[in-house]
Amino acid sequence: MKDLQRKSIIITGATRGIGRAVALECARRGANVAFNYVKSESQASEVKAELESLGVKALAFKCDVGDLKSAREMVNAVKKEFGAIDALVNNAGITRDKVLVMMSEEDWSEVIRVNLTGAFNFVRAAAFIMMKAKRGSILNITSVSGLVGLPGQANYSAAKAGLVGLTKSLAKEVGRLGVRANALALGFIETDMTSTLPAENKAQALAMIPLGRFGTVEDVAPMAAFLLSDAASYITGAVINLDGGLAM
Ligand code: NAP
Repeated sequence: MKDLQRKSIIITGATRGIGRAVALECARRGANVAFNYVKSESQASEVKAELESLGVKALAFKCDVGDLKSAREMVNAVKKEFGAIDALVNNAGITRDKVLVMMSEEDWSEVIRVNLTGAFNFVRAAAFIMMKAKRGSILNITSVSGLVGLPGQANYSAAKAGLVGLTKSLAKEVGRLGVRANALALGFIETDMTSTLPAENKAQALAMIPLGRFGTVEDVAPMAAFLLSDAASYITGAVINLDGGLAM
């Protein structure tokens, strides 16, 4: 299926995990993909080569999502190189889990900066380009933690709940200009982010999932690609749970 043929898509944080899987899925569907990262230099080169081997253009940027100036520079460079910005996936995220009474100011502010301000920065940088073109799709990767709250994640839950509000406000602001904004609320997906959780926590999480298994990045990527495609052209402001039933 080439439903993203020649679309120009930015995905934040795509060196591994969910971002990488979404990037590859978009490329398989024909999109040119630009992505960023902060640390994983060699993985970024590998992902870029994987994308190019699928016959599309790929661009990799070392760019911290929490820095608006860098976000603007990256978005402008992608527009220059690809000629348009058709879609943006705000995926980059981190966790610094701790119970709130033990949480440092730094644990709080860094998680908000990357997960929430990072999305603001990229929307701020890309939305005008989409509005001018009268087309665009923005997808924010949030979490069930932002819908129901999880112990040890006050910073992360607050950031992810913030993304839900950002998505809905944005959808109402830009819908008439042909730009859509949606969010995917993910449950427990097997990636580096979740691999370090203690076995006891994993067992507790598994017991709460009606489908009886953790999600994989392959569960996420096709839904993300669908929401970016024209097949989803009447969907905006939606927060779609992709969690095996965890947060119903
Ligand atoms: P991951 O495997 O830890 O990958 C995170 C990605 O984000 C990496 O590519 C990382 O780049 C990038 N990144 C981190 N900080 C960044 C920054 N300041 N600027 C730019 N890029 C940055 O995480 P994941 O599990 O794939 O999660 C992806 C998204 O899904 C996150 O928003 C996460 O909150 C959300 N989510 C995940 C789960 C889950 O169960 N895994 C559940 C719900 C929601 P480097 O390699 O350079 O560090």
